[in-house]
Parts: sequence; C-alpha cells; structure tokens
Amino acid sequence: MMFPDFRVGFGYDVHTIEPGRKLFLGGVEFDAPFGLKGHSDADVLIHAICDALLGAANLRDIGYHFPPGDAKFKNIDSKILLKEVVALLQNTGFAIQNIDSTICAEEPKINPRIPEMQKTLGEIMQIDSSKISIKATTNEKIGFVGRKEGICAYAVCLIYKN
Ligand SMILES: [Zn+2]
Repeated sequence: MMFPDFRVGFGYDVHTIEPGRKLFLGGVEFDAPFGLKGHSDADVLIHAICDALLGAANLRDIGYHFPPGDAKFKNIDSKILLKEVVALLQNTGFAIQNIDSTICAEEPKINPRIPEMQKTLGEIMQIDSSKISIKATTNEKIGFVGRKEGICAYAVCLIYKN
C-alpha cells in the first residue's frame, strides 16, 4: 500500500502591541484600542500559518519570500501573503490536509471570532474550514504576552502529495 508523501510543518510569530493601529488576527479585524507593529498588517496568526506551510514543504520562511525591507509589502494585507504561500505549495504539488494553531493574547476576546477567522482562512487556502483549528489562550499575565507588550501565535500543519 502506497501512502501519500506527508509532511508536517511548524510556524511561530510574534509582534509587539502598538496603540492606535488596527488589529488583524486570522484575516479578521478586531475592535481593540491597539494593533500590532509590523511592516505588513502584522497579522501574527496568518504569519505563523504561512511559516508552518512553507516549513512543511521545505520552502524557507515568510521573511525569505516577502522581505520586510521591501517597500511593496508595506502595510500589505497578510491574506495576500497567505494566498501566495498556498500558490507556492501548489506549485510543488502539495495540498493542505489540516492546520492547528494557537494565539496567545491577554486581550481582546478572540473565541467569539474564531468561526469567522476559520471561514476567511478556509476561503484563501481553498480548504474546508473544518480543517482549520484556531485556539486562543492568555499567558496568565506573565511574560511579554501577559504584560500586554505583544501577541504571539503558533501553528502546525500537515500537507501531502499523492
Ligand atoms: Zn509576522
């Protein structure tokens, strides 16, 4: 029996909190008095997912494909970056099986928006939203996340080629 060529990938990202900036997580805008600092829209969850997908296909990382010093990526919608990462994967013949992810943030409340994030990301990645798990946790008020200095995200994915 032949098994597909399965690959696992892992991604991590962090951005510092910046008052007055718009907050985007998982392609969805949140109503918060702060956003995240970054060259792009700083969507920390999408960036972690991009790195997991690129890592699984051994295609380097998000900074390699979209250098932060490049003016064309300034304030770019991270959904566009994810779309390009999915195209890179498809070019190598890989398809996405599933994604599991965690956002670490003291605020805002993320859980009520998770279905919307799953739907948004599923449309970009052209997979059913049931294959995208998004979890949220606080950092119990300790560390940089606990002190509300930043938000981080972790993601793993499984990709396959028949
Ligand atoms: Zn990032």
